[in-house]
Amino acid sequence: MKIGSHVSISKGLLGAVKESTEYGASTFMVYTGAPQNTVRKPTDTFKIDEAHSLMAKNNIKDFVVHAPYIINMASYKDRIYTLANEFLAVEIKRTFEIGAKHLVVHPGAFTDKDLDFGIDRIINVLNNVLDNDMDVCVCLETMAGKGTEVGRNFNELARIIDGVKFKDKIGVCFDTCHVFDSGYDIVNDLDGVMKQFDDIIGLHYLKVFHINGSLNILGSKKDRHANIGATSTNPKGFDNIGFDAIYNIVHSKYATDKFLILETPWISKTENLYKQEIKLLRGE
Ligand code: FE
Ligand code: FE
Ligand code: ZN
Repeated sequence: MKIGSHVSISKGLLGAVKESTEYGASTFMVYTGAPQNTVRKPTDTFKIDEAHSLMAKNNIKDFVVHAPYIINMASYKDRIYTLANEFLAVEIKRTFEIGAKHLVVHPGAFTDKDLDFGIDRIINVLNNVLDNDMDVCVCLETMAGKGTEVGRNFNELARIIDGVKFKDKIGVCFDTCHVFDSGYDIVNDLDGVMKQFDDIIGLHYLKVFHINGSLNILGSKKDRHANIGATSTNPKGFDNIGFDAIYNIVHSKYATDKFLILETPWISKTENLYKQEIKLLRGE
């Protein structure tokens, strides 16, 4: 099972790999800098070679990069749209430089415009930045459906993919919290949901799972992550998806060989549950 969590790159890629090994992970996900801004250290400060040899020693074959939230490909504002184009191109290059092949990005939000406008903008950005020479797959994340987020259902993601020229450079990241919050019943009908995914998008586009519980109920459109199977005694709150449903997903045929990345909350400034969650989900 290729399972791990979001880890910090503040001590370089080497630091990220070290943190992952502490959790007993077999993969991981990093932002190449702060998720909220565009301040980026050059990747040659990341100790990339040492990181890759430590990965090999710990049987970590590959990992995932997440683009920062400030990239809004759907924006009608010139400054934000220009930044989305420029910065997504930079992030693709950085993903390639640090030796990853998958970059997860949120499609964006159309704010004062409408869905059709947003989808067109996103397609334009992707066609501007996707480069057939760079071996990086940009994975659009399924969104919970808060506000004017694009990607709240499989149909919206399919429409984006449909407009993209280099289809082998595009994928989907399935976030269990987001999909549940947007109204897909992965608890009682995983096969039905995955059949819809296959019919509308195509399962061959599925590359990454974000494995999260949800603090809210099915269809709530909220996007607040819970620890896996958390009960009401967990300081961050109760998981409405529940351990059995998440366990079922990670052991399903849909998850075979896919990246399984935890983005569950830290329970305090210094303590997370990644190690325990990875163990439980492996069935150990
Ligand atoms: Fe995300
Ligand atoms: Fe996510
Ligand atoms: Zn989320």
